[in-house]
Amino acid sequence: MTDRIREFLRNRREDGPCVVVDLDVVRANYAAFARALPDTRVFYAVKANPDAAILNALAEMGSCFDCASVAEIMMVLATGAGAERISFGNTIKKERDVARAFELGVRLFAVDSAEEVEKIARVAAGAKVFCRILCDGAGAEWPLSRKFGCEPEMAVDVLEHAYRLGLEPHGVSFHVGSQQKNVEAWDSALASASAIFRACAERGFTLSLVNLGGGFPAKYLQDVPAAEAYGEAIFRALSRHFGNAIPQTIIEPGRGMVGAAGLIEAEVVLISKKSEDDPVRWVYLDIGKFGGLAETMDEAIRYPIRTPRDGDAVEPCVLAGPTCDSADVLYEKTPVLLPVSLAIGDKVLIEATGAYTTTYSAVAFNGFDPLRSYVI
Ligand SMILES: *Cc1c(COP(=O)(O)O)cnc(C)c1O
Repeated sequence: MTDRIREFLRNRREDGPCVVVDLDVVRANYAAFARALPDTRVFYAVKANPDAAILNALAEMGSCFDCASVAEIMMVLATGAGAERISFGNTIKKERDVARAFELGVRLFAVDSAEEVEKIARVAAGAKVFCRILCDGAGAEWPLSRKFGCEPEMAVDVLEHAYRLGLEPHGVSFHVGSQQKNVEAWDSALASASAIFRACAERGFTLSLVNLGGGFPAKYLQDVPAAEAYGEAIFRALSRHFGNAIPQTIIEPGRGMVGAAGLIEAEVVLISKKSEDDPVRWVYLDIGKFGGLAETMDEAIRYPIRTPRDGDAVEPCVLAGPTCDSADVLYEKTPVLLPVSLAIGDKVLIEATGAYTTTYSAVAFNGFDPLRSYVI
C-alpha cells in the first residue's frame, strides 16, 4: 500500500467497500513501459479501468488508447486526446458503431474475419485495419479463449480482402493471455506475424504494424518479471523473426498499467463454521464476485489479502462475498490463510485490485452498491 492510499483510507468516513487507485503508480508504470520498449507506442487498454482521472493522466503523458466500444472512445476524447491516438480494438463491432467511430476521427480498427472487414469497408472507407490472430495463451493466469483472432493462414486472406476493398491492410495483432508471466510468450506469435508479413508482400501489399497486445502482469502473490525483462525478450523475438526490418509496434497494457496501482478496502461481515468440527472457517466480506472481484472466477486471480492482525497465527479460511448467490465465493478450492484472531468488523485490504474491478462490478445486484472508486 502506498502512503497516499494509507492516508486516504485513514480519512475516509463513508461506509462500504471501495477501491483506491494511486495515480503516481499509474504514471510510474507508464514510464516503465515507455522505457522498456522505447520504439513501441503504448495504447492503454481502457477496459481495465476507465476512470477519467486515469485516462487524463495517461493522455497527458502521451499515451494512446485501445478502446472496445464507442462509449470508451468518447471517454478518451473527453481527455482532449485526439482520435489519432485511438484504436478500436474490439473485433466484434456493430456497423453503426464503426461508422460513429469513423465520424469521430478514429482510423484504426481491429478485425479477425472477412465479414468484419466488409462492415468497415462500407462505413469507414480508407481506414487502417489490423488482423488479430489466435494465440493459445499458454502460461497466462487469465488466458483468453478462441473468441478473438483467426488462424494465421486466414489472416492473410482477411488482410487481402481489406486491401481489395480499398482499406489499408496495416498489420497483425495478438494477445498472449492476460497476467502472462512468461516473457518469451510473444515469440511464437511474432513468428506467425512475420510469416503473415511475407505472405502479404507476395500478394502485392505490405504491412507495417505489429500490435503486441496486453498480457503484462501485475504483482499478486508471486513476483513477476519487470517491464524491462518483457521489453528485452520482445525485442529479441522481433529481431529473430523480422531481422533488420523491424515493423512499427504497439502494446496495449491494461492490467500491467493499473492493477498494482489500486487497493480495495473491505470489511468482514461474518465469520462462521458449517459444523462444530469444520476445519475451515467461512469469512464473508462486504465485497465479492458481483462487487468487483469477478476475476476470482475459477480462483484464477488470487489477490494478496492483508488484515490488521497479520503476524498472528493463521488458519485456512473460505473467503466469500455478501450476496445471496452461491456463486459468490472467492476462494474455496484453495482456501486463504487468515489470522485466527480475525474478527467481524475488521477491515481487510485486497491488494493489486486497480484493474478489472470497477468495470466488473454489477450495478446493484442484491441491492449492494457498485464498487466505489477513488483515484488519488
Ligand atoms: C483486454 C485487452 C488488453 C489488455 O490486456 P491486459 O492483459 O490487461 O494487459 C489489450 N488488448 C486487447 C485487444 C484487449 O482486449
